[in-house]
Amino acid sequence: MTEERRIDEHVGELLSGFVDGELTQQEQQRVQLHCENCKACDSSLHEIRALREKIGRSQLSALGQDEWRETMSDTAVKKSYGIGWLLILGGAVLAGAAGLYEVFTEPTTLTQVEKLIIGGLYGGMLLLFVSVLRQRLIERKTDKYKDVEI
Ligand SMILES: [Zn+2]
Repeated sequence: MTEERRIDEHVGELLSGFVDGELTQQEQQRVQLHCENCKACDSSLHEIRALREKIGRSQLSALGQDEWRETMSDTAVKKSYGIGWLLILGGAVLAGAAGLYEVFTEPTTLTQVEKLIIGGLYGGMLLLFVSVLRQRLIERKTDKYKDVEI
């Protein structure tokens, strides 16, 4: 087999090794020389290179996805914390409203001071509820992931 004929031989099976830098210097030269003269092998070489690049990119984006997931779970924890507070406060506000309605509409044995205390407690809960709700709305506005409702 002369050197001339070896260059004419297609190098398809060597291309991936060539791209990965796993060939001997002799093989590398053979691939290079052949691809300069053979369109088929040259385009295969380009395809393999493009494929390797794509794999490299998808590995990178997989890494990005992990970071994204981490951010998501962190955001989810914050969200459920906020939602939990909203549920507790919302329930308290409703219970307070029901109690307040009774206090001011039904004839009760409560003194004015007791009514004031109840009113104050209710007002405090309402303020807390509004401030948490406000915070949630601000967070939601600045949130990149708007998939979770309040
Ligand atoms: Zn060829």
